[in-house]
Amino acid sequence: MTFTPPAASHFINGQYVEDTDGPVIDLIYPATGAVLGQVHGATSDIIEQALQSAQQAQKAWAATSGTARGRILRRAADIIRDQNRALSILETYDTGKPLSETLCADATSGADALEYFGGLAGSLTGEHIQLGEDWVYTIREALGVCVGIGAWNYPTQIACWKAAPALACGNTMVFKPSETTPVCALKVAEILSQAGLPDGVFNVIQGQGQVGASLVRDDRVAKVSLTGSVPTGRKVYAAAAEGVKHVTMELGGKSPLIIFEDADIENAVGGAILANFYASGQVCSNGTRVFVHKTIKHAFLERLVERLRQAVIGDPMDETTNFGPLVSQRQMEIVQSFIAKGRDAGARLVYGGDRVARDGFYLEPTVFADVTDTMAIAEQEIFGPVLSVLDFEDEADVIARANATEFSLSAGVFTRDISRAHRVIAQLQAGSCFINSYNDAPVEAPFGGSKRSGVGRENSKASISHYSQVKSVYVRMGDVEAPF
Ligand code: NAD
Repeated sequence: MTFTPPAASHFINGQYVEDTDGPVIDLIYPATGAVLGQVHGATSDIIEQALQSAQQAQKAWAATSGTARGRILRRAADIIRDQNRALSILETYDTGKPLSETLCADATSGADALEYFGGLAGSLTGEHIQLGEDWVYTIREALGVCVGIGAWNYPTQIACWKAAPALACGNTMVFKPSETTPVCALKVAEILSQAGLPDGVFNVIQGQGQVGASLVRDDRVAKVSLTGSVPTGRKVYAAAAEGVKHVTMELGGKSPLIIFEDADIENAVGGAILANFYASGQVCSNGTRVFVHKTIKHAFLERLVERLRQAVIGDPMDETTNFGPLVSQRQMEIVQSFIAKGRDAGARLVYGGDRVARDGFYLEPTVFADVTDTMAIAEQEIFGPVLSVLDFEDEADVIARANATEFSLSAGVFTRDISRAHRVIAQLQAGSCFINSYNDAPVEAPFGGSKRSGVGRENSKASISHYSQVKSVYVRMGDVEAPF
């Protein structure tokens, strides 16, 4: 399980490319804080090379039949599955997430996306609209060169979730991973190439935000897909609007999880754990505002604490570990500052709250109870292992409180009353919802939010419309009647 640094910083036009003039980005292993290696951020020359290669490759790629494009994506999915263990170890080095998690949630999810969109690629068609003897036909066209920009929590998955639909539709892509987790996307590019992807169709370049900003501004770029925070989303959306570009914005959240008095407590506790502590809480769709009916609050908290005591916190490479570090010193400090705010505001600390006594960026899974709606820990995205329990008694009231947020990504409901489940979900403002479950993200289901949480959807057939456009062609069979 030794770490092999990438062959070079960037992957452009089918090969690894280095330019040591770019700023150094350290590869830091979150479980120890050790620097494992370095890559270099893209210089303007690297940015130019990547955009040129994506532009040059696009026409021929779009002209390739959908079936042939799909075959390459499906072959890449097979290679990823064959290499799942090695890719999962790499993901763990990049993010610190436990191997027990990365073995089933990262490369496998990326492979699902490549397989799903590979399967769809051959069936992407326009339509025929008969108008008497005339008709209109539509052609589903690629957009052109797309830019993908990733967050650090799911580096393999995010690269695949963006590449798969983009490439299936005949686009090419320049992908910029987060500077915090630069490694995994390079492997995705290498595997796509190995699967037969023509040079230049998928390129990866490294860098901080300004590299992303340069890509977004470029006139050759037709579409920008960002996974990141709301403040970054605002900047990227505004820059894309300057060039009237297509966008997909997968941004932050502060999602509600509502647990009614008739819920199965064991399942509800399990749901709350999945909604808050997977990936040490660094999941955009997390249900961090856990509204628990007052009558079951005590039983819920008691069982939650019992189960949290069973969390195995430790070396992420040990497969018995199921709770790992935060991704970086900075992220750990941000989460610590929220824990302090929760304490200062008078929330009751029920579990955790401290650093774990070991190297690396570990924080205990943390639970606050008696949290009120206006506390910072209830209003702002923390992006760490902090669960807030808020009390409620009335259905209409809890729906209104759940919706009283700028975010709108996910929502969950636990109840045995199936009518109530659907009634409540229908009123919650969220793009990805769960009934008696939380955080399932199969490739077949649309994923994404609204309000400040984003624009557009990833995964599923829905994302095809975000990576293609429709040309309509009117065909007249008779003579043209002109006014003069
Ligand atoms: P971030 O916003 O700091 O960075 C995201 C990416 O944007 C990085 O690659 C960064 O380099 C780049 N970037 C920064 N400024 C830019 C600019 N001006 N122009 C272009 N690119 C720029 O986010 P993060 O800290 O890496 O990730 C955490 C955030 O991502 C959280 O808010 C989380 O909710 C969100 N997220 C959302 C989803 C989703 O699908 N909705 C998934 C994962 C993470």
